[in-house]
Amino acid sequence: MGCAGFVGLTIDDGPSADTGSLLTTLRDHRATATFFNVGAEVQKYPGTVRAEAAVGQVANHTYSHAFLDELTNEQASRELLGTNQIIASITGTTPILFRPPFARVNANTEGIVHSVGMTTVLWNIDTYDYVDGKQLVQKFAGARAGDVILIHDKIASTRTDLSRALDQLEAHKLCTGEIVPSTTPHFAWHTEKFGDVTFNAKVVAPTG
Ligand code: ZN
Repeated sequence: MGCAGFVGLTIDDGPSADTGSLLTTLRDHRATATFFNVGAEVQKYPGTVRAEAAVGQVANHTYSHAFLDELTNEQASRELLGTNQIIASITGTTPILFRPPFARVNANTEGIVHSVGMTTVLWNIDTYDYVDGKQLVQKFAGARAGDVILIHDKIASTRTDLSRALDQLEAHKLCTGEIVPSTTPHFAWHTEKFGDVTFNAKVVAPTG
């Protein structure tokens, strides 16, 4: 299939006993994804993380799914570096992409992320699959080249509907890609309090 463009599919909160089903669906569609893993769970499912690395990118979602902005700087860097070490010991690759749990970031946490050589990756399409699965397929159908989509591990409706969701990308000639740091801000969302929220990453054709 020719790709008219690439979207970033990001899967948060794994690995889990259910990740294998998501990986099967991704392989069936020849799709890739970026897995924002929780370090404590990575320790429980190392084999699953190796399987993730064969399908896509393994990235960092803290060790304990913490509110990064409520930790001391030292605790926050340990959440990042500890998780990187655990992942690197399994996959051989040190992650450079970081996703803050609950999107809890501020200038201070961003400083910490940079100081450990990492890039924060937010998203601009929230499927709300953690609320219910009702919007999942429709959200994929509305995706455009360059978008970063958020879904979660451990959600039964997502496991069931991911294949139909990926069909929607294929119908629009969109392929899943790799996320890389970028100097151009990527729009995430707008809030009254913070205005336009952006992140410095973009989606490119997968290198693997
Ligand atoms: Zn999370």
